[in-house]
Amino acid sequence: MKKYFYLITHIIFFIIFIMLKLMHMSFYANLMSIFFFLTLGILIIYNTFKNSEPISIWLVIGIMLITSSLTDFVWFYNGYIHPLDGSLLLSVFAIPNFFILLISAIYFKKYYKRRNVLQLTLDFSFILFIVFFIIFELYLDPFITGSANIELLMASSFFLLVSGLTLILMSSMIFTAKYEKLGLPYFLIITGIYIFSFVTLYFIYLYMRESYVYDGWLDVVYLLSISFFTLSYAFFKTGKTYETVVNYGEFSNFTSKKILAVFYFLMLLVLILLDILTIGPFVIVSLITIIYLYANIQVHKARMSELELIQEKENNQRLEEEVGKRTHELKDAYEHLKYQASHDSLTGLYNRETFLKYTCQHIKKGNQPFSILYMDLDRFKVINDIHGHTMGDRVLKKMADLFSAFIEDKITPIATSFIGRIGGDEFAILINTTDYDTLIHLAESIIDALKEPIIIDNFQFSLGISLGISRYPDDAKTVEELIRYADLAMYHAKEATSSQSKYLFYTSHLIQHIERRNNIELLLRNADYDQQFSINYQPQFDIHSKNLIGMEALMRWEHPIYGYISPAEFIPIAEEIGLIIEISNWVFKKVFQQIYQWNTNYHQNLTVGINVSPLSLDYVDFLPSLDQWLIDYNVNPEWIDLEITEHSAMNFSILMDELFTTLSNRGFHVSIDDFGTGYSSLSYLKQFNVDRLKIAKELIDHIVTDPNERLIVNAIIKMAEGLGLKTIAEGVETFEQLTILSSLHCHEIQGYVLGKPVSPSDFELLYLKK
Ligand code: C2E
Ligand code: CA
Repeated sequence: MKKYFYLITHIIFFIIFIMLKLMHMSFYANLMSIFFFLTLGILIIYNTFKNSEPISIWLVIGIMLITSSLTDFVWFYNGYIHPLDGSLLLSVFAIPNFFILLISAIYFKKYYKRRNVLQLTLDFSFILFIVFFIIFELYLDPFITGSANIELLMASSFFLLVSGLTLILMSSMIFTAKYEKLGLPYFLIITGIYIFSFVTLYFIYLYMRESYVYDGWLDVVYLLSISFFTLSYAFFKTGKTYETVVNYGEFSNFTSKKILAVFYFLMLLVLILLDILTIGPFVIVSLITIIYLYANIQVHKARMSELELIQEKENNQRLEEEVGKRTHELKDAYEHLKYQASHDSLTGLYNRETFLKYTCQHIKKGNQPFSILYMDLDRFKVINDIHGHTMGDRVLKKMADLFSAFIEDKITPIATSFIGRIGGDEFAILINTTDYDTLIHLAESIIDALKEPIIIDNFQFSLGISLGISRYPDDAKTVEELIRYADLAMYHAKEATSSQSKYLFYTSHLIQHIERRNNIELLLRNADYDQQFSINYQPQFDIHSKNLIGMEALMRWEHPIYGYISPAEFIPIAEEIGLIIEISNWVFKKVFQQIYQWNTNYHQNLTVGINVSPLSLDYVDFLPSLDQWLIDYNVNPEWIDLEITEHSAMNFSILMDELFTTLSNRGFHVSIDDFGTGYSSLSYLKQFNVDRLKIAKELIDHIVTDPNERLIVNAIIKMAEGLGLKTIAEGVETFEQLTILSSLHCHEIQGYVLGKPVSPSDFELLYLKK
């Protein structure tokens, strides 16, 4: 809007102005121009303040317009109203000139800092020389000839100086900078400045030679130059940056420089042809121009290498930055990998390797005592089996969180520590203390803390942990041993029944125990059964008649090097390593053979008790084998009493029911061994087809001293009677026990008081031949 308004106003102004001129009505034309520029000057100043722009070039342009309007007015006054003194006229005329110089200076200053100083100095010097040389050449004449008065000379000098400086400033600025995009407003201003300066210089030239024609076309061009300033305002947009100068002083403008140099050259040539200039100055200017161009090349070269250096520096810096960035990224990646390698991905705790490594470092640090708490979740496998591994993982994660919280709350205030996940559901904590009481306190509180059920989604899990403790340096001096021992203690703690504590300290006993166990395993695997095994028989009697009713077969193992090893010790190991079936088979055959021999030789109907491992009951060939041996050894099943512990009978109660019936149908006797130590109710036994209860030695032991025990034994005998079962008391060692059992109507008796387990030959001698 503003743009078109200004444009149209200018066109109208110039059409009217030219028309008036052509119609020889200069009076009106001049009058019009006074008001036109005055109005525009005021308008520009007003707008500058209204838009609260910083005191800019526009304010100076506005002032310049007003002063030039004033000049026009004085000019008009001199021409049409009353002639004025020449030097006064020139003085007034000097004012806008001064402002034009100011505009140039502002403009120059605005971009000065972004110049190559060397280039600028060179360009400035060259232009300074050219401009003043020409001025000197053109204007020196009137000075020397003295055709002008002194005031006029002084005024002229002022104009020459101001216009010369303006041209120098503008030209050197244009020379030095490469203009990529010269904003239109600035293009117009620069054009205005140039025209104005040339017009001024020409005017002075003519004026000094008294050949200036008042109201001629020079005045029109002068007005035109002013209108460039006003017009430029039309295209100026507030807030927009006219970033006109780029690549200050680069070589790319060298061509333009050459062109300008040629232009100057041609201009001089024209001046020579017009006879204004002589050939002498022409040669000088030409020489200077050549020197200037040569210097330019040198400056350019210097500048180029400087630029290259800067570029190289920049490249290096960028490269450095890039390398730095990459290094940083690599470091991050490395840290991440390191973390992943050292931590358990599920729980975020240290993994096994890291835990071992740090423990190792701890040992290397010196004689700082510490303990390893080794923990294992008690019923974790069940969760994994029933709810799947995802749930299992969540449980582990929760457990790890609980451990971490425990460490922070309870351990950290006492001692430094760290935790690791060692295996599936196994965790270990290293604590910097070996104080017994502290460790007991911690073990108990961590077990208590984890007794609380864990809730995940809608599920509630009661897990519990078992805990083993080993101590450095007392228990062991290497990481491997410390972990193994703590694990071992944990393993034994787990075996403990719920009434016992679920933690254990490692002791050397434990390792001796393990070593002996391992040794027995090895011996068992290599045992020659016929050479090393034998069977002892312990007699069983009717409590009232004291008649022999049978015997219990008890294994004996006499190792050639290690001597006697109790069945109580080796039978569980044989069960564990799967040798029990083989051993049982050996026992069965031996006992079948023996009972046949005795019962036939002595015409007896004695019953032999054989201990049956619960694993044998699971064995598919158990019944067929029994049948086979009955045939092989010609044994009556009634002679055989199969002793099945209360514990194994209860464990497989459903299948047992069927098995007991089958055995009973075949004619075998079945006794429940060690009765009273477990937790089976008698009524539960009703469904089993059994013949006899063997009351456990533990109950008999205190029957004399503890009336409660006596009551229990009494109850067992009474209820067994009610169920039609016989009762036999085991481990009867004294006659007092015997008397009490007799009064309680126990049926049968087995114990040292009447006979210890003895070899078959002794048995025969002691109980059969008698
Ligand atoms: P058990 O079935 O409870 O056997 C009774 C144990 O008590 C025997 O120990 C016997 O010697 C002992 N005993 C009997 N009367 C007395 C007494 O008055 N005082 C004392 N202190 N002890 C008495 P033994 O022979 O050491 O057998 C230990 C365990 O080994 C047996 O306990 C039985 O469970 C197992 N066992 C023995 N032989 C065999 C076998 O051939 N097969 C299987 N599977 N297990 C066997
Ligand atoms: Ca037994």
